Amino acid sequence: LIEITRLKKAFGQNVVLKDITLQVRKGEVVAMIGPSGSGKSTLLRCINLLSVPNAGCITVGEQTIEFNGAHTTLPNERQLARFRASTGMVFQHFNLFPHMTALQNVMEGPVTVLKTPKAQAQAEARALLAKVGLLDRADYYPDKLSGGQKQRVAIARALAMKPAVMLFDEATSALDPELVGEVLNVIKGLAKEGMTMILVTHEIAFAREVADQVIFMRDGVVAEYGPPSIVIDHPRQDATRAFLGRFK
Ligand code: ATP
Ligand code: MG
Repeated sequence: LIEITRLKKAFGQNVVLKDITLQVRKGEVVAMIGPSGSGKSTLLRCINLLSVPNAGCITVGEQTIEFNGAHTTLPNERQLARFRASTGMVFQHFNLFPHMTALQNVMEGPVTVLKTPKAQAQAEARALLAKVGLLDRADYYPDKLSGGQKQRVAIARALAMKPAVMLFDEATSALDPELVGEVLNVIKGLAKEGMTMILVTHEIAFAREVADQVIFMRDGVVAEYGPPSIVIDHPRQDATRAFLGRFK
């Protein structure tokens, strides 16, 4: 479903992604772990085109974009919006629109980008709020919601665009510990439904539980890749062991 080939990204002299090649099959859950600054967020941002890679190729579903330095021709704005919508992204900070209710936040993308009729968008948004356990909070503004609730609205908002893949960048690391579980449960539910996902997480136990594959990123390369039973429980490299040791 997702194919990343020889992807490179530099900020000035700082080469942050060095030749990343990676495939994610439909329905697969991939957890990405690794030290701070290893390029995890940058990789997700590249897949979502929030950052434009310098070289390489990204395919999501039927859409392929090739990056070719200054010669990269990005698709037009409409296609770009569609590409972005096919990769739903959830960040550490929820980025909800503060002047919109939970329901309006979830409806906004479908109405403005997908041109879904309002009544239909509203019905779908309510179904998604129900799915994340927040139908009773539909008319609340973000400042009246807890962190965990805001994050669940953010997940519903990303799902409203019917993405082919969901990307989570430390979706729980800004939350109070007692609110982490409710968000992880929503993610677990999506995994059970067969949603394709890439999650950057520091919740190692969670990664072991839900992930089909684990990526250990180090210095802009995929240092280890494999099932949790290998990468988490029997890592091949000292650097991975040292990193995981901090979570024991
Ligand atoms: P963390 O675990 O702390 O979130 P990360 O693995 O997500 O780390 P990235 O955020 O991808 O790491 O950053 C990788 C490197 O890229 C860092 O050296 C960072 O300083 C650099 N970087 C990221 N974004 C930018 C940017 N917009 N401009 C310049 N440098 C950047
Ligand atoms: Mg990051």
